[in-house]
Amino acid sequence: MSSRRQFLRQAAGPLAALGALARLAGAAMAAPTPARMPTLFIGHGSPMNAIQDNGFSRFLRSWGGRLPRPRAILMVSAHWLTPGTTAVGVQARPRTIHDFGGFPKALFDMEYPAPGAPGFAREAAALVLRTRVAPREDWGLDHGSWTVLHHLYPAADVPVFQLSIDFDKPAAYHHALGRELAPLRERGVLIVGSGNVVHNLRVLDHAEGLAASASRPWAQAFDDGVRRALAGRDDMALVNYTRLAGEAAATAVPTPDHYLPLLYALGASDSMSEPAASVFEGFQAGTISMRCVQFGA
Ligand code: ZN
Repeated sequence: MSSRRQFLRQAAGPLAALGALARLAGAAMAAPTPARMPTLFIGHGSPMNAIQDNGFSRFLRSWGGRLPRPRAILMVSAHWLTPGTTAVGVQARPRTIHDFGGFPKALFDMEYPAPGAPGFAREAAALVLRTRVAPREDWGLDHGSWTVLHHLYPAADVPVFQLSIDFDKPAAYHHALGRELAPLRERGVLIVGSGNVVHNLRVLDHAEGLAASASRPWAQAFDDGVRRALAGRDDMALVNYTRLAGEAAATAVPTPDHYLPLLYALGASDSMSEPAASVFEGFQAGTISMRCVQFGA
């Protein structure tokens, strides 16, 4: 025992130096992990973006290459709505959910086999004080998550878990819930809202094409209003979005499912010290805003 201790004592110096060298070499290869992860909002648009090589999918690839590597990703997707409750996925292996119809087989064949993050999921649940967050194993990764993560983190090697949206609650509630989740950022968790700032499937003008401007004035007006509010960090204007662009809001956001994920990324960021950078803009199918936002560095 004593000889072993002796060996450890002797080895400590050189081994520590080797460790420092290894850390230096590692730092040169990968971006250093920041003290606080940014938060993101992604306009996901059509599920076809998962298999299409277009301006949006290429943007996601390059964005993923610039982002720091998180320890886990918390996704708030427009496609997991749980009226009356908030749930969190605690599976070790979340399944890929193909929650759409009428798309090619290639899309149904896709899998995003990222591991889950049950430990971080339970940590997230414990941080939320305004409601009881129910652990669930019956969901997984819906297309609001995997169609974009497939491009951001193509190796599917970063653990992912989803938080549901209580669809009975007002916008301010979701913003406040995002604020409660903010400490996860210091734990290396990337908080991502996935929806679309303008999303009205009853008024689409062409298939999946991307364009710089909207095909309808109300879509452009609402998206412009969001852009201005983000640039000025007028968070309250974004929470009170029904008054953001006059009459346009009612048509741009006929139901709030795709808008609310923005409020999680917004709420989890610091309105005083962190800029909200619109890193991608444009429209898909004429009226769907593809605006993507990074809060913080
Ligand atoms: Zn969607």
